[in-house]
Amino acid sequence: PAPLAEHGPAQIIAMCNQKGGVGKTTSTINLGAALAEYGRRVLLVDFDPQGALSVGLGVNPMELDVTVYNLLMERGLTADEVLLKTAIPGMDLLPSNIDLSAAEVQLVSEVARESALARALKPLLPDYDYVIIDCQPSLGLLTVNALTAAHSVIVPLECEFFALRGVALLTETIEKVCERLNPDLRLDGILATMYDSRTVHSREVLARVVEAFGEHVFHTVIGRTVRFPETTVAGEPITTYATNSVGAAAYRQLAREVLDRCRPVE
Ligand code: ADP
Ligand code: MG
Repeated sequence: PAPLAEHGPAQIIAMCNQKGGVGKTTSTINLGAALAEYGRRVLLVDFDPQGALSVGLGVNPMELDVTVYNLLMERGLTADEVLLKTAIPGMDLLPSNIDLSAAEVQLVSEVARESALARALKPLLPDYDYVIIDCQPSLGLLTVNALTAAHSVIVPLECEFFALRGVALLTETIEKVCERLNPDLRLDGILATMYDSRTVHSREVLARVVEAFGEHVFHTVIGRTVRFPETTVAGEPITTYATNSVGAAAYRQLAREVLDRCRPVE
């Protein structure tokens, strides 16, 4: 990909699936790191009170004084007070921890409760090329906030039985947000994860996903490898932890697809 002469305004991508353990956090970190390698300025938003994205980048969520929660709830706080630089040049993090779970309840009584995150991110958009929001595994108000802020959605789907179960509910939610809150929201892609080419089962699931979603499925497929759990322990992306691995190559390929697909509609 060609380097950029100037940066921003950012495309916002929500990494979303209400099922846990499908590769949302892993894909947020590694897609972000691969985009940063290609010279893009990237902001990752940890929007799960579990704080797994923060942990995966070597941050201890319990030691944070301010998080994305404060940015959502407190007027007058600016993003630079919450932003953390990561070890990856060009990639920053809005961290979170368990405090964020209170936002789900507290936002209910706010005016424009669905657009709190969009408001918080707005001043940051000129500084980045991509903002990737790591959603929590639910379709509650936090996830609706992510979908309201986003230009597009990436849905990681694990190549396992029942992977497609629940996807209808997710696409309905995306459609509702599209109708009521964010008419420009696009489903940019279904990302097949944890694919095991040795099993017939994985191949069958992938075939069914392609049958169901056709063009929406990214050509990149993320294979199952123990390298990913290792990177979480190491607190860094696979692109630096195992730079020549198959997993790193897969996320670089995904980044090239995203550069191609997830761009503003002219
Ligand atoms: P989510 O954010 O959707 O809950 P995670 O990205 O945290 O999912 O992944 C769940 C677990 O699976 C983590 O332990 C992670 O390290 C592991 N994992 C993610 N992607 C892969 C993969 N392609 N192969 C093997 N393990 C993976
Ligand atoms: Mg996660």
